Amino acid sequence: MDFSIPSEVQSLVQKVREFLVAEVMPLEQTVLKRGFRAALPELGRLRQRVKELGMFAPHLPRELGGLGLSLADFGHVSEALGRCFLGHYVFNCQAPDAGNMELLLTHGTAEQKKRWLEPLARGEIRSCFAMTEPDRPGSNPTWLATAARHDGSDYVIDGHKWFTSGADGASFTIVMAVTNPDAPPHLRASQIIVPLPHPGFELVRNIPVMGHPGEDYESHSEVLFKACRVPESNRIGEEGAGFVLAQERLAAGRIHHCMRWIGICERSLELMCERAARRLIGPDKPLATRQTIQDWVAESRAEINAARLMVLHAAWKIDHEGGHAAREEISIIKFYAAGVLERVVNRAIQVHGALGITDDTPLAYWYRFERGARIYDGADEVHKSVVAKRILRQYGFSVKS
Ligand SMILES: Cc1cc2nc3c(=O)[nH]c(=O)nc-3n(C[C@H](O)[C@H](O)[C@H](O)COP(=O)(O)OP(=O)(O)OC[C@H]3O[C@@H](n4cnc5c(N)ncnc54)[C@H](O)[C@@H]3O)c2cc1C
Repeated sequence: MDFSIPSEVQSLVQKVREFLVAEVMPLEQTVLKRGFRAALPELGRLRQRVKELGMFAPHLPRELGGLGLSLADFGHVSEALGRCFLGHYVFNCQAPDAGNMELLLTHGTAEQKKRWLEPLARGEIRSCFAMTEPDRPGSNPTWLATAARHDGSDYVIDGHKWFTSGADGASFTIVMAVTNPDAPPHLRASQIIVPLPHPGFELVRNIPVMGHPGEDYESHSEVLFKACRVPESNRIGEEGAGFVLAQERLAAGRIHHCMRWIGICERSLELMCERAARRLIGPDKPLATRQTIQDWVAESRAEINAARLMVLHAAWKIDHEGGHAAREEISIIKFYAAGVLERVVNRAIQVHGALGITDDTPLAYWYRFERGARIYDGADEVHKSVVAKRILRQYGFSVKS
C-alpha cells in the first residue's frame, strides 16, 4: 500500500497553502468583524488572482478551466483550502456550487451547460440547491411536499423550502420537486433549474444560524415557490430521477466536505498547540506542561490522522469503483469526520479560554457554523443506521425501515 501523495499534487497543495496564508487569511478578520458582503470586492480580486495562477475551480476537468484532478487528489487540495474559511469560495469550489457544477457536467444538456455550467465554472455567477423543506423531514428526501405539475410544455412549481444555502444573490437554484406522485417513492421527484430572480419565487429570509442571519454566499435561506413557471427543458436528467441524482451528487460532495473539515481540524490543532506552548499559567510554566492539554493534543492528532485516511480511502474507492460501491465508506466518513471536527474545534476553544469564544481567532466561527456538519448531507444517526444495518445483514438481521 502506497500512502505517498503524487509530487505534482504536493506542489499544488503547497502553492495553495502559501496563497491562503499570504492573501486570503488576512481577509478573515474583515469577514468576522464586518460581514461577508463587506469583503466581496477584495474576494473578487483574489478570485481573479487564483484564476491567473491557474488554480481556479480545481475540481473541474481541464476543458472547463479546472485541474482535472481525481477525487482523491482533489481531497488533498480541499483539505488545504479548509484551513481558511474563505478558501473554497476564493478557489470557486465551494458548496453548493461545486455539487451543482458536477451535476450539470454529468447530466446537463448542452444548452444547460452553456447557460449555467460555463458561467459557474468561470465564477461569474453563484447557484443554490433547494431540497430540504421545513414541514417534511430532510432525512427522508423521498417524501417531499414541493410539486411541479405539467402545464403545456412548462412545469408549474409550488412549495416551501429552507436551508437553501447561498440563495441570497444566486443566479439560479436547482429545486427538487415531485413530478411523478404515483411512482415508487425513489422515482417521484425531479431536479429542475429555476433562474433567479423569477416570477413565483420568493426569498422569505436568511435564517439566523446561532444568532447570525448571514448574507450573500454565506447564508441559508427560506424560500417559496408559488406557481413558479419554468420550461420542461429546465429539468436535469430524466423525469423522476431527482433522488438518484441527489445521491450521486452527495457521494463526491461528502469527500469535499470531509476533507474541508480535516483542514479546519488541522488549523484548529495548530492554534491549540501555539496557544498551549505560549500561554503561561505561572512564571515559566506554559499551559502545554499540563497533562490534560497534552492528552487533547495527542487525541486530536490521532483522530485527525484516522479521519484523513478513512476519507482518502473512500475517495479512492469512488474513483475506482464508483459511488454506489463506496456507500458504506461514504456514510462512515460522514459521521466520523463530523465528530472529529466537533471535538477538535471544541478542545481548541477550551485551550484558548475566553479568547476562544471571541472572533479574534476563526475558532468561534467554526464552532457556530460547523455544528451543522453533524446534520447536513445526512444526519449522523441516519448514516450510522445505514452502516449498522449493512453490517447486521451479514448476521441475518434485516429491517425494512
Ligand atoms: C448548515 C446547513 C446547510 C444546509 N444546506 C442545505 C442546502 O443547501 N440545500 C438543502 O436542500 N438543504 C440544506 N440543509 C438541510 C439539511 O440537508 C437537512 O437539515 C438534513 O437533511 C436534516 O433534515 P432536517 O433538518 O429536516 O432534520 P430531520 O429529518 O427532521 O431530522 C432531525 C433529527 O432526527 C434524527 N433522525 C432523523 N431520521 C432518523 C433516522 N432514520 N434514524 C435515526 N435518527 C434520525 C437525527 O438526529 C436528525 O438530526 C442544510 C442544513 C444545514 C444545517
